[in-house]
Amino acid sequence: MLVEDVLEEENIVRIAEWFHGHLGPCLVLGLKMTLQAFNILGVKRGEKVYIYIETPGKPPYTCVIDGIQVASGCTVGNGRLKHGIADKIRATFRKDNKKVDISIKFEVIEWINNNLYNIPTNHPKLRDIAESILKSDPYELFLVKIQNSSEHH
Ligand SMILES: [Zn+2]
Repeated sequence: MLVEDVLEEENIVRIAEWFHGHLGPCLVLGLKMTLQAFNILGVKRGEKVYIYIETPGKPPYTCVIDGIQVASGCTVGNGRLKHGIADKIRATFRKDNKKVDISIKFEVIEWINNNLYNIPTNHPKLRDIAESILKSDPYELFLVKIQNSSEHH
């Protein structure tokens, strides 16, 4: 199933908006990167996946984290999501010894920086951009690195 179908079918966008308080591009990027990673790993929401997400330390960048929590079911509360501070947005999704690393392309972050910084969270522009991100090809937004390791520690 395509990421786009999941986003539409499960009303996950609406749930994320309700949970997070507003619909913006970074929230949607979090949803999309999670569904992409879950497709690659062949897992479903609720399965035991561990996520490490790095972002700059404030909104709108940290909004990505809520998108990931809603889409994955991995949360700070259940201990399956950890957050670190970095100057980029990158998440590592791990299931057993399979790992996928998804980072948001530099151009996308830069675009967010230039267009969205200091825009109020209820501004209609945010919703429009979120909707266009929902429809974009994930490979235009993300760099994906798949690691298959059979090492045991
Ligand atoms: Zn937000």
